[in-house]
Amino acid sequence: MKKIGILTSGGDAPGMNAAIRAVTRTALKHGMTVMGIRRGFNGLINGDMVELGIRSVSDIIQRGGTILYTARCNEFRFEEGLQKAKATCIKEGIEGLIVLGGDGSFRGAADLSARGIPCVAIPCTIDNDISMTEYTIGYDTAMNTAMLLIDKLRDTTQSHDRCSVVEVMGRHAGHIAVNTGIATGATHILTEEVPYSVDDVIERIQNTQTTGKHHFIIVVSEGIGNSQDIAKKIEQATGVETRATILGHVQRGGSPTVRDRVVASQLGHCAVELLNQGYSNRVIGTKHGNIIDYDIQEALSMKKSFENDLYRIAMDISF
Ligand code: ATP
Repeated sequence: MKKIGILTSGGDAPGMNAAIRAVTRTALKHGMTVMGIRRGFNGLINGDMVELGIRSVSDIIQRGGTILYTARCNEFRFEEGLQKAKATCIKEGIEGLIVLGGDGSFRGAADLSARGIPCVAIPCTIDNDISMTEYTIGYDTAMNTAMLLIDKLRDTTQSHDRCSVVEVMGRHAGHIAVNTGIATGATHILTEEVPYSVDDVIERIQNTQTTGKHHFIIVVSEGIGNSQDIAKKIEQATGVETRATILGHVQRGGSPTVRDRVVASQLGHCAVELLNQGYSNRVIGTKHGNIIDYDIQEALSMKKSFENDLYRIAMDISF
């Protein structure tokens, strides 16, 4: 393979730049030309790309976001868009494509693979909601950001004898919530995976009050939402002044942690090796610390399990 393209698609995630760097440097070692395609599949449709050399990816391993920009591209969901993208690849001599993104981006990569452009996908999302892999690039950084912010919130929550209801990201997955919840000693954690009622939260706060605790952190996952309502109900029932804080997109930014940089480097390297060996329609991930890869359709049909044991431990020790 002489020339490949790389793009970042869907929501950004810290570590995408480290993966772009790894892909570029590995491909250059194999003597390939690397094209950085801007703004996801839009750049493929419009031919918006730039050649990446060794120094194009200097000084980015420590940066959040993506130097290639990212976007959603509705046109790519339809045959006309896919054909335009394929035509761009043929015109530019791009023989293989590496796609960084979430499961929507994987569907796009599978569609393009089926039309004769070999694609390998790398899971990048802070939500860690991709079933075929234990880990997605950006997850560790997002959790650490959320943890640091909740720690700061705890200081003021403690000083004022308050309760803080903190909403963390993760969309419909509660992985960020359960991990940051246990790491910050949250009194309760609400996620979509575990049935809950606000009355349970109130009862837990009241029980904890009897042991002399005066401040409370309640971590709520994005999918549950309603943080303001939950805060209001807690305040009304317990008399504890309660504030809701939605951490929001700050969790998507920042310098990637060691784990995100290392995994991004491993997966980026592996993606190029797979393309170079003639593989197509694959997605790479990790299992028990090893790098694995699956057919994209097979990966998309898998179901992710939730960390129920971790949740139980959090409930056992944080009160
Ligand atoms: P995140 O998890 O951050 O949302 P994602 O990759 O799942 O990332 P999506 O918006 O679902 O984000 O998908 C990104 C892009 O992938 C879409 O804008 C579209 O261009 C392409 N895509 C999504 N679904 C399909 C599909 N079924 N067929 C072709 N392309 C698709």
